Amino acid sequence: MKKQLFIAGEWIASEKYSELLSPFTLEKIADIPQASGEQVDCAIEAAYESRAMMASMPAYQRAEILEKLVRLLKEKEQQAAEIIALEAAKPLKTAIGEVQRTIETYKFAAEEAKRIHGETISMDAAIGGVGRIGYTLREPIGVIGAITPFNFPMNLVAHKVGPAIAAGNTVVLKPASQTPLSAYFIAELLEEAGLPKGVLNVVTGSGRIVGARLVSSDKVNMITFTGSPSVGIGIRNKAGLKKVTLELGSNAGVIIDKGTNLNTIIPQCVMGAFSNQGQVCISLQRIYVHEEIYDDFKQKFVAETQKLVCGDPLSLDTDVSALISPPDLERSLQWIKESVAEGAVIAIGGTTEGNVLLPTVMLDVNSHSKISCQEVFAPIVLIHPISTIEEGIKYINDSKYGLQAGIYTNDINTALHASNKLHVGGVMINDIPTFRVDQMPYGGVKESGTGREGLKYAVEEMTEMKLVIWNQA
Ligand code: NAP
Repeated sequence: MKKQLFIAGEWIASEKYSELLSPFTLEKIADIPQASGEQVDCAIEAAYESRAMMASMPAYQRAEILEKLVRLLKEKEQQAAEIIALEAAKPLKTAIGEVQRTIETYKFAAEEAKRIHGETISMDAAIGGVGRIGYTLREPIGVIGAITPFNFPMNLVAHKVGPAIAAGNTVVLKPASQTPLSAYFIAELLEEAGLPKGVLNVVTGSGRIVGARLVSSDKVNMITFTGSPSVGIGIRNKAGLKKVTLELGSNAGVIIDKGTNLNTIIPQCVMGAFSNQGQVCISLQRIYVHEEIYDDFKQKFVAETQKLVCGDPLSLDTDVSALISPPDLERSLQWIKESVAEGAVIAIGGTTEGNVLLPTVMLDVNSHSKISCQEVFAPIVLIHPISTIEEGIKYINDSKYGLQAGIYTNDINTALHASNKLHVGGVMINDIPTFRVDQMPYGGVKESGTGREGLKYAVEEMTEMKLVIWNQA
């Protein structure tokens, strides 16, 4: 299968192609075009030229296109899930979940298109404002450069393309090199849904070339980036006055208070730690358990982990499959080894089957070990005892990241205290930090990023406020 770039509504070949390999079998899946600098410029130009047309498209028409996409995606749910499973090694049942969320995300985008509005200002609150009427409007920002990661190749594209169209913008999308097929699939469906030529352009190729060109172009008004902190920080430094939103990584933690019913929460915690092989920005990486229930928790968590089925992402039985690339597998093993040298103990896992790292539970991990203080992005979780909730809050806050955190407790005062003290973008009470539905505001503090996604909030980021004042005198 030889793919083509999508520029100005045309499918275009490239001079250079690179082989896309399955992360699970390492067999070739497709040939992916590597856009030249000139082709990226053409895509930017197409988006730039379509700005005025898109900005004047009525809200109901933008909503209709997104609604049509929702219908098409519903019809092709299985095919979409198989594409994700194939290129990202995301276990099929998790991939089906991602497609269902993607459908919801575009549905929310369609609804949001119809409620973009400003507010009236009480002009006569100022002595000098008497006799005037003032109100704000939200106008599209223009050309949006969207750069997306591999781990949710369809839904994280939706979190950028959906609100961008809803708000009347045009887009140049650069998907992750490992997961271009999901992005091309959505471009095909949007073409079928009647999106005018040039509104969405998809260019594949290395981040350092294609992504960097988007970031440096004067014709791109905003970069919306989801990916690793190091790349995000580099983008921010090069973007000049462009608006930039960054959805970056984390080492999310949960606190488990005494008195918590472990039987109900253990399956949730295991899912939070190992879903998509731990390659989730809010994957549960650190579990802090009250010492009174630590032994019980540890034992039950390991027993539940043992039940996970590892293997082929295309099998519906599989819970955990291959990491995204062999170097990521190597890095994960190295981090486990280093933490053991620093005093940690492997309770289960720590070994591989092909490109699959078996779900790994670590105990006695030093808080300075990489698997604690950096983003592990692999099926590795640590469990650590705490004697007070305060200690758990301190551990969670002792991180350069701050995306989401969770606390399980039966005490409302403890829950309220934790929600006040945890320095993160979102606190989940009686849930794992991995909880997300797509309309909620989502984003982090510290090195987890700036700006918020979630359709209403992304539309705010992707529009500019204009003030209008009428002088009645
Ligand atoms: P990544 O390596 O940072 O890549 C993300 C995107 O940036 C890819 O499209 C990549 O292209 C591109 N890129 C690489 N170098 C670039 C450059 N110099 N200029 C512009 N673009 C560049 O991240 P990943 O490994 O795909 O994804 C994992 C990371 O994403 C994790 O840190 C995870 O926590 C984070 N994430 C955050 C959220 C959130 O909402 N907060 C959600 C999901 C994932 P190539 O693929 O061609 O290199």
